[in-house]
Amino acid sequence: MHVMDGIESRHDGIVGSKRKRFIKKEKKIEIDLLYDEIRKGSRLHLSKAITLLESRAEHDQKAGQGLLRKLLPNTGESIRIGITGVPGAGKSTFIETFGLLLAEAGHKVAVLAIDPSSTVTGGSILGDKTRMEALAKHPNAFIRPSPSSGTLGGVHKKTRETMLLCEAAGYDIILIETVGVGQSETVVRGMVDFFMLLVLTGAGDELQGMKKGIMELADCMIVHKADGENLKLAKKTVREYRQILHFLQPATPGWSTTALPVSSLERTGFETVWETIETFYEKMEASGVWHERRQSQTKDWFHSMIRDRLIDSFFSQQGKKELVADLEKQLLTGEMTVASAVDAILPMD
Ligand code: GDP
Repeated sequence: MHVMDGIESRHDGIVGSKRKRFIKKEKKIEIDLLYDEIRKGSRLHLSKAITLLESRAEHDQKAGQGLLRKLLPNTGESIRIGITGVPGAGKSTFIETFGLLLAEAGHKVAVLAIDPSSTVTGGSILGDKTRMEALAKHPNAFIRPSPSSGTLGGVHKKTRETMLLCEAAGYDIILIETVGVGQSETVVRGMVDFFMLLVLTGAGDELQGMKKGIMELADCMIVHKADGENLKLAKKTVREYRQILHFLQPATPGWSTTALPVSSLERTGFETVWETIETFYEKMEASGVWHERRQSQTKDWFHSMIRDRLIDSFFSQQGKKELVADLEKQLLTGEMTVASAVDAILPMD
C-alpha cells in the first residue's frame, strides 16, 4: 500500500508539473497572440487585454503586465486629450461629435473615462455603455467605459495602462472624459497633453462661482451649446472668459488658454478646436514642453504607484485596520497625540 502510495504521488507530481508547464506555455501563446492582434488593430483583442489588466486575479495581472511591457515601445505616439465639465455640460455629446469628425477624417480615436462616482458607489455619473452609439459603431473608434470599481488611484492606473494599450493598437487620438467634480479632473490633467473644460452660458453666476483652480487646469475652455437662441449669449460668455483667462496662470507654460464657442448639435466650432490642438502640439513640441510634461507625468505616476503599493501592503497586514481604528478612538478621547498614534503604527527605527 505504502509503495503504491508513493508511486501514485510521484506520478501525480509528474503530471502536475507537466500541467503547470502547459499552462505557462498557454499563457505565453496568449500574450503573443494578443500582441500580434493588438498591433494589427483588433478591437476585440484590445478589449481582452484591457480586461486582463483590470482583473483582480494575480495571474491575469501578471499576463497583462507582460503584454504591456512587450507593447511599450509602440506607445506614446498619440495626442492625449482630457475633457471635463459638470454633468449636463454636454461632454458625451461633444465627444461623440468630435470623435466622429476625427474618425471620418481618418484618425483612430479611443475614448476612455474616469468616473469618480463609480470609485465610491459602483454607480456612475458618466453613464453606461449605451452612450455614444454612433461613435462606437465607427470602425476607427474604440470606446471603453470607466473601470467600475476600485479607488481613484486604482482607476487612474487602469486608465493609464488602457491608454498605452490603445496607443499600441494605433489609436492616435485618446479622449479621456471625466466629471468636473472633486479630484478626478486633477487626475486626468496628470495623464493628458491637452485639457479642455466644457462650460455653459449664463456664466455670469457661474464665472463667480467657478473655482479658479479648475480654470487653471485647462488649455482650452469650450463654451458649449452655442446654438439657436443661446448663440449670442455664448459669444458674450466667450469674451468674458477670455478676459478672465488673461489674469490666470496658464496650465501649460508658453501657452495662452483660450475660450471657444462650440455646438455639438449643429457641429460648429470643431474645426477651430482641432486647429487649436494642432497649434498647441506644434508649439509645445518645438519648445520641449510636450516631452517634459510626458516625462514628469510618468515620474508622478511611478511615485503615486509606490504610495498606493505601500498603503495597500500596510493595510493588508493582519490587525492593522483594527489598530488604526483603536488609535482613532484614543485620539478622539484625548488619550493620545496624533504623533504618538502614528509612532504606534509605524515606529521609527
Ligand atoms: P454630459 O452629462 O456632460 O455628458 O451631457 P450630455 O452629453 O448627456 O448632454 C446633456 C444635454 O445637453 C442633453 O440633453 C443633450 O442633448 C444636450 N446637448 C448636448 N450638446 C448640445 C449642443 O451642442 N447644443 C444643445 N442645444 N444641446 C446640447
